[in-house]
Order: sequence, then structure tokens, then C-alpha cells
Amino acid sequence: MVKRNKNLARLVAGYLFPEINRRKKEFLKKNPDAKIISLGIGNTTEPISSYILNGLHGKVARLGTIEGYSGYGDEQGITELREKIAEKLYKGLVKGDEVFVSDGAKCDIGRLQTMFGNEVTIAVQDPSYPVYVDGSVISGVTGDFDEARGQFADIAYMRCCPENNFFPDLKALPRTDLIYFCSPNNPTGAVATREQLKELVEFARKNHSIIIFDSAYSEYIADPSLPKSIYEIEGAREVAIEVSSFSKPVGFTGVRLGWTVVPDQLKFDDGTPVRNDWNRVMTTIFNGASNISQYGGMAALEEEGLAEMRDKISFYMENARIIKEALKNKGVKIYGGDNAPYVWAQFPGRKSWDVFTEILEKCQIVTTPGSGFGPAGEGFVRFSAFGHREDFVEAVRRLEAW
Ligand SMILES: *Cc1c(COP(=O)(O)O)cnc(C)c1O
Repeated sequence: MVKRNKNLARLVAGYLFPEINRRKKEFLKKNPDAKIISLGIGNTTEPISSYILNGLHGKVARLGTIEGYSGYGDEQGITELREKIAEKLYKGLVKGDEVFVSDGAKCDIGRLQTMFGNEVTIAVQDPSYPVYVDGSVISGVTGDFDEARGQFADIAYMRCCPENNFFPDLKALPRTDLIYFCSPNNPTGAVATREQLKELVEFARKNHSIIIFDSAYSEYIADPSLPKSIYEIEGAREVAIEVSSFSKPVGFTGVRLGWTVVPDQLKFDDGTPVRNDWNRVMTTIFNGASNISQYGGMAALEEEGLAEMRDKISFYMENARIIKEALKNKGVKIYGGDNAPYVWAQFPGRKSWDVFTEILEKCQIVTTPGSGFGPAGEGFVRFSAFGHREDFVEAVRRLEAW
């Protein structure tokens, strides 16, 4: 018999989304005619727009020709795409050869955890996207789960709540090797200001820590004063890795395409570039993103593609506006939803799962209980702006009757 990896046994049972699905199925068993609207999972719903779709089609067609066929490509991605990402999305703040193209941001986070190994200490925002913690648990860096606190012993949790404007009190935070930071944030919809990110970069520089900055929603930022990338902050190139993705801006959640930026200046304590080890990890346990996806990504970064990207984002952000409007008169405190496709709704004095159940039973709407993202999410539920317009219109009707 094979011994089970004990780290996997330490994962907290009932991963959030399977648990939501279980409760949804249970509800449907008792109410088979219910027409459930899901505003829960952060998955895109709208079809891929035509110019970007053509980029995908074009490569598919060329794969059937002698001249257009390509097999394995560079594991780091097609040079033209890497350069386009650097130029169009980072305005030259990073170089093409610092961009490593991949099959998605989540997958890159997992591989970063492999690269850093199990002897690092970490800090995460509370609440946060589950892979920072759960991936770290699988890598064996977290210590045991403390039931009473609802937290792992060896993780520093950075509480982000309305009282601190969703930005952690860094003075109270111990030094850690890695700091995971997501802005615009999933689940809270909060976006860190330039001043806040300066503070974070200073903190990392002082402590010789590395920030893993998740900017999967950066294109949702409408306010021009808010930074879209950590590299807009001076000094970030020495202390930050940025992971990002085509999933949310152009609906490539199923197509799969993302990237990670590792700047040349980022070094380990022995003076070796982090970039070298990342290159080694990517060429060893990853074999390159799909060439079809990469051609779709290149189309997305041409002028027509970027215009389609902006349209798609406006569509989802209108959903966010609609849902915020509906929640206005419900005795609920509403956060997010302005520069991020998530509305973070606080129900003071109530438990997230109770609110989830009530909204499911009374409105047949599935939300995401905030407590599933960390203890500081208790009392909140997350409404996602991803969905068809008619579902939002219907959801509003039901919420108004609630
Ligand atoms: C959706 C999401 C991602 C995207 O992951 P992909 O693997 O690129 O689809 C990354 N980070 C956050 C916070 C997300 O919500």
C-alpha cells in the first residue's frame, strides 16, 4: 500500500465550491421546480468575441497545413505574445523575456509553490482566493489547522475588512518570506491604492520578502488613479512576482491562458536570480501553453481585441451595478463592484452560511459564503458579476421581493 501524502490530509474538508454545489443539489431535490440563478462561482459566461475568436480559429486552421503546423514550442511562450503582453498590458514596465506564458494564473501559483518549496513562511490576505492557502498546504508549509481560530498555525493572515479599508495593518504583521496579495481582490472587490501598494512594496523591501501579486482582474480597474500592476510602484521589480490571466478579461477560463512576470532583478538570498529557477521549473514540469490559446491571446492584444476586451468588461460591470442597486435597500453594507466583478455584501450580526441559505431558499439565488474565503469573510456573501443579463434582471426582481 502507498502512504498518502500527509499534507493532503491536512486540507480543510469541504472545499468551498463543492460544498456550495452539494447544498444547491440538496435544495433542488426538495424543490425540483426551482429555477436557480447562480451568482456564486467566479466563472465567465459570455461567448468569446469575434476578433479574438478569429485568432483561435486562424491557428486551428493553420495546424492543418504543412507550413502552419507547429508542435512543441518554447515552454516560456511565443516570443511575439510575451512582447505584446509587456508592451500592451505593462506599457514597457516589464520586458518580454520576463513574461512567462502559461495555461493560467492558478496553475502558475501552484508551480510557484513548487519552486519555493516547503521551508518558506507565508502571509495571505484574509479573506482570500483559496489556492494561496490550499496550494501551500499541499506543499507542506502551513503547520496544523487550528479549529478554534479557523486558520493554519504557520500562516500569517492579513485581515482585510471595512475597518481597515481592506488593506492590512502591516505594522502588526510578522516578517514572512512570501506575501500573497490580490488586487483587484477576489472576493472583496477591493483595489489597493498607489499609496497602499507603496507601503506593501516598502514592507517587502525592508523584510527581504517576495510579493506574489495576483492581478487577474487588473483590466476591470476603471479608475485611472488605481494601479493595475505592482510594477507601477517604484522598487517593485526587486521584490515582486506578478501572476495574471486572460481568463477574466476575455473569457479564456476554458481556453486557458495566463502568464507570470519574474523580473531580472528579483534574487534569492544567495544572489541567484529567481528567474533562473522559475525558468527551470517551467521547462521541467510544464510544456508550454496551447499554441491555439496563444494565438487567441495575441488577437486579444491587438487594437480590435483590446476593444472587445473593454466591451466584455463593461458588460460584466453593468451586471455588478445592477446587483449593487438591488441590494441597496436591504440593510446590507455593500463593498466592491466598482473596479472588480465582485460585490462583497455584509450582513452584520449574521453568519455567511445562514445568509447563503436564506438567499437560496427565498430567492433561489446561489451566492458564495464569505467565510469560505477565510475567517474575516464571516458575515459576508459574495455576489459575482459573471452571468447573463436576463439572469441579473430576474435576480434583481427576486431580491426586491425578498
Ligand atoms: C479566476 C482567478 C484567477 C485565474 O486563474 P486562471 O487559472 O488563469 O483561470 C487567478 N486569480 C484569481 C484571484 C482569480 O479569481
